[in-house]
Amino acid sequence: MKITLLTGKTYDIEAAVGFPLKVVKSPRAKRLTLRIDQKERLPVLTIPNRCSAKRAIDFVIEYKDWIEQSLNKIPQTQKFQDGTQITFFGKALTIRHAPQQRGSREENGCLYISGQSEFLHRRVKDYLKRQARKELWTRSKALADKLGCPLKDVTIKDTKSRWGSCSSLHNINYNWRISLAPESAINYLVAHEVSHLLHQDHSRSFWKCVAELYPQAEVGKDWLHRHGKELYTYE
Ligand SMILES: [Zn+2]
Repeated sequence: MKITLLTGKTYDIEAAVGFPLKVVKSPRAKRLTLRIDQKERLPVLTIPNRCSAKRAIDFVIEYKDWIEQSLNKIPQTQKFQDGTQITFFGKALTIRHAPQQRGSREENGCLYISGQSEFLHRRVKDYLKRQARKELWTRSKALADKLGCPLKDVTIKDTKSRWGSCSSLHNINYNWRISLAPESAINYLVAHEVSHLLHQDHSRSFWKCVAELYPQAEVGKDWLHRHGKELYTYE
């Protein structure tokens, strides 16, 4: 943004500091202030009327580290949009907004979602949750049968704190975002939760059971540990 100073000179502060910045000129402002617009992920500089461009630029540069740190602290979030590419239970899918169509359908590597664009994210999520429930039920049931344990139900949750849980009533909850992880991570999580049907703790016998149900458990566990947070960016 170019600002016109009292001297009549136009000055491009953004270009001078070398990074994106929103500049607000406020006649009410008594001094230079910097804040972070969390939603726009931008530093906002407020400039009072009588302030030289040089002072404003020096001020921003002085707080450069603070700006950088503050921006890095804002959690990234993302929404599904037309063209978003995801991996859903290991298969690549491109999301396509198809407003005219009825319902949702998968075809040739695309997921076509109907309805108005403002509801696209929610509708994609609803679709993925529905499919995830079916798929996670099938996978969990197969492993539970292997252990000879009854499994009553599989529920899909939308928390930002955990991947799954298993209740003493033989129900398993999964976070829907696990469906976007690689197969190794999904299979590890399923083996983990199903093993809890037999072992309510994280004892040695528990981990032995996990490894028996899914021999590559370590690979999946490691992925989840390193990259799991990236999937939490989906709102
Ligand atoms: Zn556990």
